Amino acid sequence: MKELLAQLPAVDSLLKREEMQELIKKFTHQEVKRAIKEGLDETRQAILSGQLTDFSLDRLLQGIQNAFIHITAPTLKVTINATGTVLHTNLGRALLADEAKEAIQLAASHYTNLEYDLEAGHRGTRYQHVQNLLKELTGAEDALIVNNNAAAVLLYMTALTKGKEVLISRGELVEIGGSFRIPDVIESCGAILREVGATNKVKVADYRQYVNEETGAILRVHTSNYRVVGFTESPSDKDLVALAHDNHLPIFNDLGSGLLIDLQEIGLSYEPTIPELIAAGYDLVSFSGDKLLGGPQAGIIVGKKSFIEQLKRFPLLRALRTDKATLAALEATLHLYRDPEKAMRKIPTLRMIAKTAEEIKGKAEELGRAISQRLPQATWTLESGSSQVGGGSYPIEKLPTYLLALTVSGMSEDQLEAALRLSDAHVITRVMNGAVCFDMRTVLDEQVPIIVETLSEIVEREK
Ligand SMILES: *Cc1c(COP(=O)(O)O)cnc(C)c1O
Repeated sequence: MKELLAQLPAVDSLLKREEMQELIKKFTHQEVKRAIKEGLDETRQAILSGQLTDFSLDRLLQGIQNAFIHITAPTLKVTINATGTVLHTNLGRALLADEAKEAIQLAASHYTNLEYDLEAGHRGTRYQHVQNLLKELTGAEDALIVNNNAAAVLLYMTALTKGKEVLISRGELVEIGGSFRIPDVIESCGAILREVGATNKVKVADYRQYVNEETGAILRVHTSNYRVVGFTESPSDKDLVALAHDNHLPIFNDLGSGLLIDLQEIGLSYEPTIPELIAAGYDLVSFSGDKLLGGPQAGIIVGKKSFIEQLKRFPLLRALRTDKATLAALEATLHLYRDPEKAMRKIPTLRMIAKTAEEIKGKAEELGRAISQRLPQATWTLESGSSQVGGGSYPIEKLPTYLLALTVSGMSEDQLEAALRLSDAHVITRVMNGAVCFDMRTVLDEQVPIIVETLSEIVEREK
């Protein structure tokens, strides 16, 4: 063992090798040196554990190569989403429209008037951007952008309800995910939660019963990721807003997903839109930028000017503010909504949701044919199934789709799923009924040949 260890070359002599010098030209001396050290360490461990009984330079060089890939590769990797879930939170939610990507590119590579008033020639505010577009598109008096919708709720609850009682329906005490639970959020903002009604039945009278001098606001939370169905009742927006305002209380709505256009036209069920809630009289409505809106991660607050003004002056806002890239992308995305037909065509989230089962079937067949040409060992069928909107939007809506169900002889479905996931292309699929399923709703056209190539590499390696 000692002899084996003694055969390991020194870092410096490895650095002098031609392969390493080539790498140094492309990357940095530091990175190559680190990879050599990691490669040597790995080999040393293998010798000490008795796993390696011969010294092989080729094996060592391969180990250094692997370490190098590991060191230089970003941890945030591009994936191929073949799950069919459009707003897949784990995979980064909304893809941006080309217009939004271009806006980010410009804002990132140039100085901008982010906080500069060009007319006056002095300091301006970043909150002026996007504001007019949001007012125009939602009918609200004013608007404010923060980091995400969780931050939006945190901001208005802290700024406007601290130390006061907040009335909220028992049916709306939701957990959004990642431990963002409405009851905890309200309490962490320093407000006192007053639960109203029963989980399935809540009336205006239930709210009225709790209104007293300590009451600070009524909060409505859209139960975006689940539904209470059956024997249920909850007050209309109009009635609840009337109760709040009759008692001189502000009323807020955490809508979660932000719909600016009605998707019933493309066959989805009814969901309240932002303009509707503004028209119903809510003082503030908040929603995410990267859910149904199809823009960048952001929290958008629209509503009455007097409240938004208070939020703009609140110190916490500084900690929740968005960067220029987000504002640029959001502005470009919102621009598209001026023409709803254009928004449907250009915003990937809306386009993917609107895809018909027939359209998806065509894409799945295209993938299937390409697979069959390359891989005789693969068998596939087309199955009708359903995809999801995701991101806590339209929780019970099933979007009709076709799945390409694939099996490869000599590999289990779980092996195949893992191999696809761990490949360089990182193809994320679903395993169902003994097959690996591809839902082409969320696969981009240019990714089809990549999937075929990846499958062929996997099968080749398994041989
Ligand atoms: C998704 C969601 C949130 C959190 O929004 P983020 O933008 O993810 O922070 C808050 N409330 C509701 C009702 C939601 O659906």
